[in-house]
Amino acid sequence: MLSSGGYSAASRSAVAGALLLVASFAVASCGGEGDKTDAPNGKVTVVYEDDTVKPADRRAVAVIRRSRVLERVAGWLNTSIALPYDLVVKVTGEVPPGVTDAVTQPDGRTVYVPPPFLTQIQGVLGKVVRTVERPALLPPSSYNVDDLTALSTQFVFGHEVGHALLRQLLLANLGLEEDAADGFASFYTVNEVGPGPSLAAALLFDELAREEGRLTLEGFSSDHPVTQQRVFTFLCHLEGSDPKKYYEPLVGPGYLPKTRAPLCPQAWAMLDYGWWTQLRPHFSGAFKEQGDRTQEKAHERLIAETKALAEKLDEIRTGQ
Ligand SMILES: [Zn+2]
Repeated sequence: MLSSGGYSAASRSAVAGALLLVASFAVASCGGEGDKTDAPNGKVTVVYEDDTVKPADRRAVAVIRRSRVLERVAGWLNTSIALPYDLVVKVTGEVPPGVTDAVTQPDGRTVYVPPPFLTQIQGVLGKVVRTVERPALLPPSSYNVDDLTALSTQFVFGHEVGHALLRQLLLANLGLEEDAADGFASFYTVNEVGPGPSLAAALLFDELAREEGRLTLEGFSSDHPVTQQRVFTFLCHLEGSDPKKYYEPLVGPGYLPKTRAPLCPQAWAMLDYGWWTQLRPHFSGAFKEQGDRTQEKAHERLIAETKALAEKLDEIRTGQ
């Protein structure tokens, strides 16, 4: 789930959300593992159920469909990862009860993308392009509602794919699952797409955080980190992936605080190594050689960045 408290329509209680998850697990466990085949050959497909889309949501759905951002992530998974089960991504108005934003079912085999959620993203980003100055890293040609909607949806969908991978592959997770899902969105988009999705998602979530206003106990008790915190983490991972390229445009204008930035190269190296390492046993035959090499490079980079951080640590701590 993208967020349990970010939208007015999604202000149901965290407790109710937790109960739903438990209920879904109980149902899933009845199905057992009987349909798991020996050779993992799950495929990712994207389905647009056009006849379920209301007129008010057709524009947002058309933007996403034309951009092919969902198909791009699906294509990367199909080429690189041997999934045990199929994953169906449904852009549909027919969602399980209570679903208002993008969600991944507990078994990791279905992602729902409700069209009103895409319209909502488009609405929020409409306000962003009217009221927020364009960050220098985004070219003028992409600082418009439709492009930002496609880019941020690519990040949001990356988040859902993170959930799907964790659930299908039963990946060992060492923190909040929602953090891990955000981490996959950064890992995938920074490595495979570029800075656009992280920047668009940061703009989207920053505006959402403003609209949320004062944090409530519900916000703090969410299974997600609080919204504004997620913005800084998206930017930190982007900056850390290539400080030479991103430090000035992100830290200079104050998007990413100077106190956080020195930690980001090691944080990115840890995230990048973490995902490559978790995915390595599940690489497809076609991707194995390239994937193994990339994982080994990520390992070397983590060691180097950790050493570099240790050398700068006294300076960083006294500067904070
Ligand atoms: Zn989530």
